[in-house]
Amino acid sequence: MQILDKERLRKNLDEVIWDIEQARISVSEHHIVKLVTVAKYTDIENIKTLYSLGQRAFGENQIQQLKERSALLEDLPLEWHSIGSLQKNKINNLIDLRPALMHSLDSIELAQELNKKLKAKDSKLNCLLQINSANEETKSGVSNTEAFDIYQQIKETCPQINLKGVMSIGANSKEHNIIQKSFEDTYNIYDKLSKDGATICSMGMSGDYELAIKCGSNLVRVGSALFR
Ligand SMILES: *Cc1c(COP(=O)(O)O)cnc(C)c1O
Repeated sequence: MQILDKERLRKNLDEVIWDIEQARISVSEHHIVKLVTVAKYTDIENIKTLYSLGQRAFGENQIQQLKERSALLEDLPLEWHSIGSLQKNKINNLIDLRPALMHSLDSIELAQELNKKLKAKDSKLNCLLQINSANEETKSGVSNTEAFDIYQQIKETCPQINLKGVMSIGANSKEHNIIQKSFEDTYNIYDKLSKDGATICSMGMSGDYELAIKCGSNLVRVGSALFR
């Protein structure tokens, strides 16, 4: 994995932050967007450099990598996000890592299993409900039509889970309209849930984070745009 020098990372980070600023201000000056850096394909040294440039929130999609990196960097005040599909046999590992936020709660079954294991450890976890907004076979998540009800059901039956909002990955398409529609659908569900306390709408990656913000995202997960 490639180690990038500080000036290169500074330039990339500045560009991404500038783009986020432009997009969020086009929504509203009061629309605040959080940047979570996804370092999964890059070297751990780059995380240290981005930390020195002011970045604090980092996401990993594999529990094993999250475990190794958070241990190696435990002296830094970083905020870790778990963003990948969680297999049932990794639940205890995830709980022990105490991430700031788990983005990928993708079924009621997973929520109930997670709730049980959290209870056994007398622990709680902040989570987002993942929505498969474009209804794609290759992606996990609940459907748009079920999302609202499943969210309520998790809130009612899983007291160890602090549900904070929703996450989705934009449609895998070259057509702007189709990607936009997938973000709008997720945002509309989030908007309904926000009347009931949801505060995080996690959508947007390197290829589409500006569009996601314009559709209402308040958390973007950006990887490759920072490490090119
Ligand atoms: C890899 C990944 C990202 C970042 O993807 P880039 O296109 O590299 O920005 C964001 N979210 C999830 C869930 C991912 O797996």
